[in-house]
Amino acid sequence: MKYIGAHVSAAGGVENAPIRAHEIGATAFALFTKNQRQWVAKPLTQKSIDEFKSNCEKYGYGSNQILPHDSYLINLGHPDLDKRQKSLDAFIDELQRCQQLGIDRLNFHPGSHLREISEQQCMDLIAESVNFALEQTQGVIAVLENTAGQGSNLGYRHEQLAYIIDKVEDKSRIGVCIDTCHAYAAGYDLKNDYEGVMSDFENVVGFQYLKGMHLNDSKAKLGQKLDRHHSLGQGEIGWDMFKQLMQDPRIDNIPMTLETIDPSIWADEIKQLKCWANAV
Ligand SMILES: [Zn+2]
Ligand SMILES: [Zn+2]
Repeated sequence: MKYIGAHVSAAGGVENAPIRAHEIGATAFALFTKNQRQWVAKPLTQKSIDEFKSNCEKYGYGSNQILPHDSYLINLGHPDLDKRQKSLDAFIDELQRCQQLGIDRLNFHPGSHLREISEQQCMDLIAESVNFALEQTQGVIAVLENTAGQGSNLGYRHEQLAYIIDKVEDKSRIGVCIDTCHAYAAGYDLKNDYEGVMSDFENVVGFQYLKGMHLNDSKAKLGQKLDRHHSLGQGEIGWDMFKQLMQDPRIDNIPMTLETIDPSIWADEIKQLKCWANAV
């Protein structure tokens, strides 16, 4: 089953996210469980938690149809100990919020070395942070998102994702989310070599770790290492790749969510994707 949706707004409370997802015909959704541009957030109220759960049940969203995204401020591989600790505290808080909401996975960007330490040193710090955070929490999978490789962001090669996974002790609580825009901008030619990219992913990381996908076209060209999302079919990747993806039997039962730039056409994008998924 393909679960398809979008990163919907949680304005007014997380309990509104499943309602907004339902309104656009989504069978999956992503959300921020707190303001993504602030470090500290008020704890979730019991009322919010209860309503979130009942709305998810009402509209049929199970835990493999929901993938929250953590704050953009968090850098688990920060070279500075104090700043890394601040990120780690915020990351643990995010995991706990997921736990409270009955969500079993949390998407995050691996981290950035800020050109102060090597890529490997940064990846070692990321794995160390993840191990610590997982020990402090229960039941939520930490889901590494591949990046476009913009700036000093790591996670732009499958090998980097695999390196971090290898260092995480509890393999049942580490996963990967592939963002199609990021992959393409990082140099993975999903447009002309879909099979090649996917078999590389299978060999280097493995589909058992794939816990979600972000469906975005790319304004940036292949290998340009810029994170610029576009609406499906309007960017460098084009519709054909998304059709192939919807008909790929290896990718099933995970949340696949749009982060495309025009929310007013999300319902149409979802409808088209569902149409291909159902045509198999
Ligand atoms: Zn992201
Ligand atoms: Zn993404």
